[in-house]
Amino acid sequence: MTRTVLVLNSGSSSLKYAVIDPDSGLLVADGIVERIGDSSSGGQSPPDHAAAMQVAFDSLADDGHRLDDLGLVAVGHRVVHGGPDLYRPTVVDDATLETLRELAPLAPLHNPPAILGIEVARRSLPDLPHIAVFDTAFFHDLPPAAATYAIDADVAEKWHIRRYGFHGTSHQYVSEQAAAFLDIPLESLSQIVVHLGNGASVSAIVGGRPVETSMGLTPMEGLVMGTRSGDVDPGLIFYLWREAGMSVEDIETMLNRRSGVRGLGGEIDFRELHRRIESGDTAAHLAYEVYIHRLRKYLGAYLAVLGSADVITFTAGVGENDAAVRRDALSGLGAFGIELDEHLNASPARTARRISPDGAPTTVLVIPTDEELAIARACAGVLGGGLGDG
Ligand code: ADP
Repeated sequence: MTRTVLVLNSGSSSLKYAVIDPDSGLLVADGIVERIGDSSSGGQSPPDHAAAMQVAFDSLADDGHRLDDLGLVAVGHRVVHGGPDLYRPTVVDDATLETLRELAPLAPLHNPPAILGIEVARRSLPDLPHIAVFDTAFFHDLPPAAATYAIDADVAEKWHIRRYGFHGTSHQYVSEQAAAFLDIPLESLSQIVVHLGNGASVSAIVGGRPVETSMGLTPMEGLVMGTRSGDVDPGLIFYLWREAGMSVEDIETMLNRRSGVRGLGGEIDFRELHRRIESGDTAAHLAYEVYIHRLRKYLGAYLAVLGSADVITFTAGVGENDAAVRRDALSGLGAFGIELDEHLNASPARTARRISPDGAPTTVLVIPTDEELAIARACAGVLGGGLGDG
């Protein structure tokens, strides 16, 4: 009988769910419950995550999917931060939940809603194993030179401060897909994966193992993102705190929610950003230029880390769909063996594809990411073959 995994991605105000057959990769059903706890909706929105889970189950039922008939063998939970110790896909018990609660200060915006999602799902589906899959996992063994901040070593050790890296499920999945697409063993490839969604990160991967990634202690470091600043001089935080009278919370909210492309250009969606640029909006234009400039800086840095890249792969909402971003990120890099085929790059195809010319030294790919499938497979890996026939 087919076995399936219910994959849950629980955010502060949304619950994404997907039912996936990890063996065939078939997506049986998926959906998103939004505006959790939004009191301005006149009672239309689910008041909390428990109600949201019920909405998800109801809409599965409306689509003809009875929970009992789905062949569910596990619930996979996306958890952003696993801290220093949690990195393998982990069957959640009370002790794991306690560890996750202790870790919450490391990821105050991301882990608390994931914990809520796990608590609610364990109550709703008590007979299934609940497995946490961590965004930080892939980067757990980042080389020390890349993982270490040059700060007081005692402070760093006491407070578990290191570069953890995020979007790991996507970087790992996409790098494996790239090797499969090229039919070249993963072990022999030097890769750069460029994940450009609302959050954005880039990683350098040698032989399937990450050697650099742009996010750090939190998902704020690195590239310019939809609403996050990415790299800033830490001095600006002290300056705003001391001189502008902003609280730590104010600064955190500004850097996370009112910065990045939205903070500069007033818009998070790249389709709309391009429309604004075309209509002569100089703020939108600057936002785009800053975004591209930062991305190019990182690509240059990672080429130096790697020596050279066999393959560069773009993924996630912007990376998969925005031909202009890909063109502008890679223009003028012919001296490094990096070129794009204009027509291939402009193709609106939605499947994995090459966009560099035949025979170019560096192959440039677009590969759709699928974090839900990767999480479902990680869960199946934990259960093993024999346990999955329930
Ligand atoms: P998340 O980080 O929330 O998972 P996604 O990977 O879904 O984000 O990316 C969402 C972003 O992708 C949108 O905000 C938008 O900027 C961008 N995007 C989606 N479709 C297109 C498109 N056709 N062209 C350009 N950008 C797009």
